[in-house]
Amino acid sequence: MIDYISRPEEEWKKELTKEQYEVMRGDTVEIPYTGEYLTTIKRGFYSCAGCGTELFSSKTKFDHGSGWACFSDTVQEDLLGTRFGTRLGTEQTEVFCNTCKSHMGHLFKDGPVTKNDGTRYSINSCSLTFKKSEKR
Ligand SMILES: [Zn+2]
Repeated sequence: MIDYISRPEEEWKKELTKEQYEVMRGDTVEIPYTGEYLTTIKRGFYSCAGCGTELFSSKTKFDHGSGWACFSDTVQEDLLGTRFGTRLGTEQTEVFCNTCKSHMGHLFKDGPVTKNDGTRYSINSCSLTFKKSEKR
């Protein structure tokens, strides 16, 4: 069960940086190759910058060369929601945090074929916070 977090937009504006707000609550995309976690290879967990829910493990992170942080899997599938639609003029599957409904990035099927048939979560670094952990 996911406990949905609902906050007034004003509160999001105060809590997030301008870039985070525009990407996570608005309709802009992080500029490719600028993300803080793009090349991070440390062991740990990536959480939603909006609500702190752990979404990705460094175990599933890989370099796709597309300019955003990419993951082949999520920590727990129902933590993320997807929505097919047109964003910035392109048809794609959007990925959002199910807990706080913040935009995370997009889902593609051109990733490494592991247990997830090429699933690639392409995620904005600014939508995430990273915590180092040996457990990951
Ligand atoms: Zn969230």
